[in-house]
Amino acid sequence: MAKTAIITGSSRGIGAAIALRLAKDGFNIAFNDLNMSMFENNDITDKVKALGVEAEIFCADVSKYDQCEQMIKDIKERFGTIDVLINNAGITRDGLMARMSEEQYDMVIAVNQKSVFNMTKLAGNVMIRQKSGKIVSLASVTGLYGNPGQINYAASKGAIIAMTKTAAKELGSRGICVNAVAPGFIHTPMTDKLTEEQRSAMLSRIAMKRYGEPEEIAGVVSFLCSDDASYVTGQVIEISGGLSM
Ligand code: NAP
Repeated sequence: MAKTAIITGSSRGIGAAIALRLAKDGFNIAFNDLNMSMFENNDITDKVKALGVEAEIFCADVSKYDQCEQMIKDIKERFGTIDVLINNAGITRDGLMARMSEEQYDMVIAVNQKSVFNMTKLAGNVMIRQKSGKIVSLASVTGLYGNPGQINYAASKGAIIAMTKTAAKELGSRGICVNAVAPGFIHTPMTDKLTEEQRSAMLSRIAMKRYGEPEEIAGVVSFLCSDDASYVTGQVIEISGGLSM
């Protein structure tokens, strides 16, 4: 039976690239995003189905525990197993700390961090019963090194790194590997919002002198979800073109 991968926030950007790559690897794909309209303007589900795997969209706000609980139940009923979870959904609400509102802070923590608890716990419980599984979460270089104007985002991504190591320790004996990737500056709708000044400042710090592409994140995630990574857990792999050397 084909294995199943859930990718949160997968209508576009890095999530869509991961869905396509895991479909090429032979996984059935459970897409997720906030609502169906997110999938109307693109052909990502068609591209995945054209690879001969099964795919279905499950709408849920992953910051809400009850919606995640229903989604996991629905995916289990539809596909039978949950073999891979990719915690990809994320948002930014940038601003210098002095001017950041409580709402801006709480929203980013809820979507980026609480969602990882919700989904890792719920999908992890299915994987415990299966005695196997792979979980990969999208952290960020901001969670490793900090970034002015992103104290909310840095807190959420730093927490994901700590949660990855903790979950790896709790789930390792059950045959479940839990890892994170920490992208640098990747060309997606999230980074399209940055000003030209912010982009060129970032570019000057990247050893490879270019931004990354979503497919370059998907390739590393594919490895972490493969049998080749069967003894890799609790790790954070930076994918930043040498941003931090
Ligand atoms: P993106 O293009 O903004 O895609 C994120 C997706 O997640 C969007 O479709 C978004 O929908 C969805 N989403 C937001 N809140 C959600 C929720 N509560 N429930 C379900 N889905 C939700 O972002 P991306 O650049 O591909 O980034 C993907 C991940 O990589 C994020 O975790 C991000 O923090 C991380 N990352 C990205 C970069 C980068 O340079 N792009 C660097 C480091 C880390 P909406 O449009 O409705 O918000």
